[in-house]
This record gives sequence, C-alpha cells and structure tokens, in this order.
Amino acid sequence: MHAQANILVVDDSPDNLQVLAAVLKQDFKVKVAINGERALALATAPEPPDLILLDVMMPGMDGYEVCTRLKQNPATARIPVLFVSSRDDEEDEAHGLSLGAIDYIVKPIRPSIVQARVRNHIELKRSRDLLERLTLQDHLTGIGNRRRFDDALDLEWQRAARAQAPLSLIAIDIDHFKAYNDHYGHPGGDQCLVQVARTLAASAARPGDLVARCGGEEFACLLPATDSAGALRLAGQMCSAIADLGLEHAQSPTHCHVTISLGVGTLTPQANEPAQSLVDMADAALYAAKSTGRNRAIARAR
Ligand code: GH3
Ligand code: MG
Ligand code: MG
Repeated sequence: MHAQANILVVDDSPDNLQVLAAVLKQDFKVKVAINGERALALATAPEPPDLILLDVMMPGMDGYEVCTRLKQNPATARIPVLFVSSRDDEEDEAHGLSLGAIDYIVKPIRPSIVQARVRNHIELKRSRDLLERLTLQDHLTGIGNRRRFDDALDLEWQRAARAQAPLSLIAIDIDHFKAYNDHYGHPGGDQCLVQVARTLAASAARPGDLVARCGGEEFACLLPATDSAGALRLAGQMCSAIADLGLEHAQSPTHCHVTISLGVGTLTPQANEPAQSLVDMADAALYAAKSTGRNRAIARAR
C-alpha cells in the first residue's frame, strides 16, 4: 500500500477551497493555499505536494504565473499541475497546457471526475518517479548513478560554457578497496560503499552539487560555479569525513581505517571544448593523490 499522496489546492475563494478539499480528502492528504505566493511557499516546503490543483484567476499572482514559476524551479518543475478554471474556451485551456500543466478542469467541478483525474495523475507520477529511480539511482547506495552523473555533467558543462563560470569535478576512489573486499567479504565491502556514499553525499550539500557512484568503488562530485579553492576545501572535508568514520581496514598497507583519495579538476569551458577535458583533469589529480600516499586531495586547475 502506498503512503497517501499530498495534494495542494490553490484558490482565492475559501468556498472553492473547501469544496475541493472535501472532495479529495478521503483519498489524499490535502493542503490549501489562498494565493499564489502561499502556493509557491508550500510547494518548496518539507513534504512537497505530489500534485497541485491550481485556480487560474486570482488577484495578485494568477495561476498562469504560479505555474510558470513552478516549472522554472528544478525543485518543483516535475510536480504535476492541474488548472481548475471557470474559463472554458479553447484558448485558455491551450494556454494553460502550454505552460506545462498536465490537465485542465473546468468549474463548476464534478466531484467524481476530479477525484478520478487526480487519482490517474498520481498513478502516472508514481510510475515516472519509479522509472527515474530505476534509471538514475545507484541500486546499492541510493545516490546518483553513472547515467545521472553523465547527464548532469553535460548540462552543467553547457551552462558553465554559456556563463563562462568555473566548473569543478572531484574524482573519488576508495584506497586499497580490493584488500578490504578480500578480507571482509563482498557483503562487508558493500556496507562500506553505502557508508562512504552517504558521507560524501552529506558533505556536498549545496543545491546543484551532485555526488554519484560512477562504478565499483569510484565516486564523482560535480560542483557548478565553484572555483578550485572552494572545490579543494570541500574535497579536504570529504577526505576527513571518511577517515573520521573510523571504519577498520586491517589489510590496508597505508592506514588502519578506510580512506579515500580525491582528485579535483576545475576549469572554465572554452568554445567547443569537450566535457571530457574536465574528467581527464580530475583523473590526473586523483592519480597524483594515489601516487603520493593516498588519503588526500590534490587539485589541478586551468
Ligand atoms: P587503490 O588504492 O589503488 O584504489 O586500490 P584498490 O584496491 O581500491 O583498487 P582496485 O581498482 O584494484 O580495486 C577495486 C576493488 O573494488 C575491486 C573489487 O574488489 C571492489 N569492488 C568493485 N565494485 C564493488 C562492489 O560493487 N561491491 C564490492 N563489495 N566491491 C566492489
Ligand atoms: Mg580504489
Ligand atoms: Mg578503482
């Protein structure tokens, strides 16, 4: 059984809010907002809505504006929006859908139809979320996988090139992990990977930062709009955070607990430069960290 989905209902009329909330609250957790500003605040609050029913005509910020802003913000862009409007001409409906709304319901509402449509859209959203999780999340650790990282690198590379802003990449590799696996067994190795992934993800907490597992015991951290000094500082914090976990590694030739090595690459993309240059730079820095003793971060920048 699924947890109950959260629905946000937005309307400037308290009567309309009450009617819609009454229709939906048997099946869903319902929150209401009396204006656009409040709707945007609730959409980004903890426990964000799974779906938004949005009135079009409201004083101040109207529903079109609210929808546009929701779609512009990556944190809210994928929440399905259903317009609920008393305007039923083709142009209004087409305009609403062109702003990214998934459906358009005409007032006065028919309760059973609203219920059915909301249920359908919630089911579709669940399938989309599941598909995304299966394709972009690493199965073992729950953080982003290689595909997620490749997508983000493409996007951030283009963004950095347009803005002529620095982009940093930290390549991370667990030290002597083959010896760890051989000694503690594969399940023990998997547990270690989970803890390392969690700790790395918690270290890179700025919006836009991404930590992904790129394969085996290799991780990558992508840091948009971050210069070399900032990225090296974070890499140093990650290195300490892993050492501070104090995970015993009896067979490590260099330390008695689990450590990582980190290579930081930073550059501002030049015209037509491939993103691979940044990957190569971070890999070269990682190689330097490995060959000078491990458990350290080394930076290269251009
Ligand atoms: P270095 O310090 O130079 O990085 O040495 P290393 O032993 O970490 O490097 P190497 O690349 O030789 O070994 C990586 C090992 O990681 C090989 C394998 O035993 C282990 N490994 C790779 N993927 C997984 C996984 O999904 N689960 C577990 N438990 N172990 C894995
Ligand atoms: Mg390794
Ligand atoms: Mg490796």
